[in-house]
Amino acid sequence: MVRMRFRLAIMLAALSVFATAGAADADEALLAGARAAQPAVIQSLRDMVLIESGSADAAGLKAMSDYVEARLRSLGAVIERTKSSVGPGDIVKGSFTGTGNKSFMLIAHVDTVYGKDILATQAFRQDGNRLYGPGIADDKGGIAVILHSLAILRDAGWRDYARLTVLFNSDEEVGSRGSGELIAALGAMHDVVLSYEPTVAKAVAKDEGVLLAAAGTAAATLQVKGRTAHAGAAPEQGRNALVELSHQILQTEGVAKGVPGAQLNWTTSKAGSVRNQIPEQAEAGGDVRLLAPDAADKLLAALKAKIAETHRVPDTDVTITLDIGRPPYVAGEKGLALAGQAQAIYRELDGRKLMLHPSTGGGTDAGFAGSSGKPAILESMGLAGWGYHARDEYIEIDSIVPRLYLTTRLLTTIARQ
Ligand SMILES: [Zn+2]
Repeated sequence: MVRMRFRLAIMLAALSVFATAGAADADEALLAGARAAQPAVIQSLRDMVLIESGSADAAGLKAMSDYVEARLRSLGAVIERTKSSVGPGDIVKGSFTGTGNKSFMLIAHVDTVYGKDILATQAFRQDGNRLYGPGIADDKGGIAVILHSLAILRDAGWRDYARLTVLFNSDEEVGSRGSGELIAALGAMHDVVLSYEPTVAKAVAKDEGVLLAAAGTAAATLQVKGRTAHAGAAPEQGRNALVELSHQILQTEGVAKGVPGAQLNWTTSKAGSVRNQIPEQAEAGGDVRLLAPDAADKLLAALKAKIAETHRVPDTDVTITLDIGRPPYVAGEKGLALAGQAQAIYRELDGRKLMLHPSTGGGTDAGFAGSSGKPAILESMGLAGWGYHARDEYIEIDSIVPRLYLTTRLLTTIARQ
């Protein structure tokens, strides 16, 4: 999950859409498997935290990719390992072929936001119910849930899927520019995609949860080309790009408010280089957040229309572009149905509650995975934790068993439907 400041803005309200149904009996075999796996999960978390793997750390990313590749191989996966098209790491894909008719994809990332030698100041340690370590929640906890859930299912002899794909990318924290396209293409080939970013710790959000939406990102660039002239001797011969840019910033300031699911804030600008010259060029940059699949196209069209309405300085050229980053993640109807099933599964654990977090401003690879609109998709299937992208990142140990049970029970349940 990228960008802590947006994670902090998570809305913590729980929806109670599915809260009325009664609890079914737990699958005792899966639950026993989850309980038995907890010590091994903690060992895996330790192994992974001790491998520093910041997004720019080629050696660390390689060590993490080697680790997950070996683990997937031992589970019987066929491995494809490809270089990220941008950045120093690899993408590890594990494929399993089964006997059922549904296809599932599970995704998480091996990179972290931390720089080299972070372990020197933030060591792996346990304190009560908390396990601390850089990247332990985001996203090594997610990797651990995937690997150990698959081990539980293998031990149970479960092969009720047509295809099961696991994908670990290495550039999530820097926008997945080298893996997003592949994640989108694979997402379109599966019925269900589960994404394993962490969920908010109970110390912060009361109950564990899943996430229903996350903003996409884009960068807006507003450029004005005017004409230069001596600012003292012949200003009337110039066409002041800075004045026109200022006019267009004010003119477009509120446009995004009229586009559902779009947000635009102008944040940077530059114009001119010397005081005594009418500036020929001016440029502003804007931060764009997108919470609907079609919001980018609609925002761009609305901006273009607004810019064309009035010019302050004649004979200036104004252009606007949007550079799309990560697409928005919207669970939609199919994802909401998965979330309802997840809540029912949680209730099997002595009535344990599962929160549905409506949205976050942070980006997630679930946006790429669901961009085709084809798979049912659900985010934040990883461990409960906090402090990611900050200090003293931790997971809550008592979320391990519920999260293993959630994944194993959800997959086996959907496979039968
Ligand atoms: Zn993450």
